[in-house]
Amino acid sequence: MVEKTEKSETTKAEKIPVWDLPDVPKGRLPPHIQLQRTRVICTSDAPIHTENISYSGAYASMGVDNSLRLDDFHRNFRVEVINLTEDDMEFDIIGIDASIANALRRILIAELPTMAIEHVFIANNTSVVQDEVLSHRLGLIPLKVDPRLFDYKSENDEPNEKNTIVFKLHARCERISGKGSEKESSRISVKSSELVWLPNGSEFLLSTENSNLDLTSKSKTYTSFNRSQDSLPEFSNNPIVPKHGNIVIARLGSGQEIELEVHAVKGLGKTHAKWSPVATAWYRMLPEVVLLQEIRDEKAEELVKKCPVKVFDIEDIGKGRKRATVSRSRSCTLCRECIRGDSWDQLVALRRVKNHFIFTIESTGALPPEVLFTEAVKILEDKCERVITDLS
Ligand code: SF4
Repeated sequence: MVEKTEKSETTKAEKIPVWDLPDVPKGRLPPHIQLQRTRVICTSDAPIHTENISYSGAYASMGVDNSLRLDDFHRNFRVEVINLTEDDMEFDIIGIDASIANALRRILIAELPTMAIEHVFIANNTSVVQDEVLSHRLGLIPLKVDPRLFDYKSENDEPNEKNTIVFKLHARCERISGKGSEKESSRISVKSSELVWLPNGSEFLLSTENSNLDLTSKSKTYTSFNRSQDSLPEFSNNPIVPKHGNIVIARLGSGQEIELEVHAVKGLGKTHAKWSPVATAWYRMLPEVVLLQEIRDEKAEELVKKCPVKVFDIEDIGKGRKRATVSRSRSCTLCRECIRGDSWDQLVALRRVKNHFIFTIESTGALPPEVLFTEAVKILEDKCERVITDLS
């Protein structure tokens, strides 16, 4: 085993004898070092050269300054939106390090606030769904409301119109009696669209005994709203509703009933996933598929057949001859099928561009994905400023 390794290393060394390397002008890296610096090379076993060389003096012996310079960053940095819908966005971020891409991903998942149901007041639940499970299901319903319009509510704060959103839900499956027994068709689904926004706050009385004692004073409820939320300009023509109205909360059988009130507050995904504004946010490095030699005729057809996502095409080069071309390298999933067996890795090179990220954001619906991205950038900026202030 050891012998084999030593032998293969010798073979590698013999492939590029140092005296055969072309002269490289001072101040530029040799092509193979430049490739290792800017690309992850995907071999048939595993990716190699995955590290980012960030040390400023890493190439000092070759007269190359590897310092990170602000003007270089300005020149190279780009964000290109590839696909944008109401809930999803795919875009390219070019000219950043993997650590920055990962910081943005983590901020999107865990540090951007949303409004989510936190307190559930159950007046009646005769369904088969236990109170705890029902509360958990309600908490996970995404709400279509801009969290930037609300304040965080601490434990000691009174729930008011600036920190709490109240909904009520009252669903009942009426008994339908058939001949002799109740009909099966009387079952109903309770859906998220049945959550009714209460812009004036809670309707549940805090203490019925006290309110009976003093009938002249206003009965106290679970919230202290000074004004109706629908009188605020942001909500007057834009009622607060769940993002999706067809989420099934529970199924009710004949005679079963659910009556409850829920209070949504502002929070972060790092406290509980229900506050995460994204269903998911992820990135991958831009794939680069390179043909190292011209692949012709049957071999070209074989290569096209190998790829499950149709990265390669056939080009007619006249006189009945064909050659393989790379036409959709962005779609490459790095399955490595095209470099398996028969020295295919001598013909095809699979790489990833180290500073080019294909980023995807799937919003849960509180904010559009492009707004989520800009908010994440602002949070990252704040964090950087705090670090700079602490260091200075
Ligand atoms: S790695 Fe897989 S997806 Fe990528 S080009 Fe090769 S066969 Fe196609």
